[in-house]
Amino acid sequence: MSDLLERLRGRGWRLTSQRRVVAEVLDGEHVHLTADEVHSRAVERLPEISRATVYNTLGELVCLGEVLEVATDGRAKRYDPNAHRPHQHLICSGCGAIRDVQPQGDPLAGLPHGERFGFAVTGAEITYRGLCPDCTNGP
Ligand SMILES: [Zn+2]
Ligand SMILES: [Zn+2]
Repeated sequence: MSDLLERLRGRGWRLTSQRRVVAEVLDGEHVHLTADEVHSRAVERLPEISRATVYNTLGELVCLGEVLEVATDGRAKRYDPNAHRPHQHLICSGCGAIRDVQPQGDPLAGLPHGERFGFAVTGAEITYRGLCPDCTNGP
């Protein structure tokens, strides 16, 4: 059984067949799907599932803190089930593949006191960019 489903079950989230399909689609490593991608994959498993149901379910999962909303590149928001392990993103400029990465050290430590403008800084989102192996060795 998948980790996301296990977590949801542990929280007593009512797993209807529609919710289960959305959770199944989102489960796994390095998953960052747009709502439309979640919907089209969910339809393959449960043809009657509506776009509204998928969107509502995604909203609930985000409210529960079990799925993160990631806005990586000014395009559509992506949904990320890796919600309990702090991580940053590495994005391929060629094909858009996204990997979860964990830089060494505390990303907040890289911002010197003089660059904080008196803010109490609580988080950092770092996007690394490059070409993935497939795009580097492309045809
Ligand atoms: Zn690529
Ligand atoms: Zn991620």
